Amino acid sequence: MSTENKDIIESSVNITKAPEGIEGAGFFATSLDQVVGLARKNSIWPLPFATSCCGIEFMATMASHYDLGRFGSERLSFSPRQADLLMVMGTISKKLAPVVKQVYLQMAEPRWVLAMGACASSGGIFDTYSVLQGIDRIIPVDVYVPGCPPRPEQVIDGILKIQELVGKESLRRRSSPEYKELLASYGIE
Ligand code: SF4
Repeated sequence: MSTENKDIIESSVNITKAPEGIEGAGFFATSLDQVVGLARKNSIWPLPFATSCCGIEFMATMASHYDLGRFGSERLSFSPRQADLLMVMGTISKKLAPVVKQVYLQMAEPRWVLAMGACASSGGIFDTYSVLQGIDRIIPVDVYVPGCPPRPEQVIDGILKIQELVGKESLRRRSSPEYKELLASYGIE
């Protein structure tokens, strides 16, 4: 590799910052929470549950121009068993709601949920008898991305917000009484 190319690569690649800790000659000590959070937040595997136009916007977010892979999320999973972020994009009819819930239930903990666009967040313009008025009626949502459709920059912002949550989450949260209570409010044990 030429020196010029090497310089360009070195100047444009950002190395993820190390978590807070104590360092000295030949050692670095930090908490387990922070190390696990660092690894998790930079390797989120999203499951795209796309039913309509917002899904097309998500395809643009994955493509070369916006390139979600820059955030470690290029590996989409169409199997709930190998996904940790459920991204719901598009109108969810009441008939489809049990399917969304089933997919959520099939995901292993820890799992996060992002509602992309007005339809997934609140039913959007479809205030009708057949449309679910937001997926938080059936499953807990961590981040909402507004818009109809949201631009790829907004989707990326949503992913960054998820990364913040993932990076700071305590390892005990999923077994806490508060979290169990939250799931119980959705009828999930
Ligand atoms: S929020 Fe708008 S763009 Fe997204 S699925 Fe609904 S109608 Fe389509």
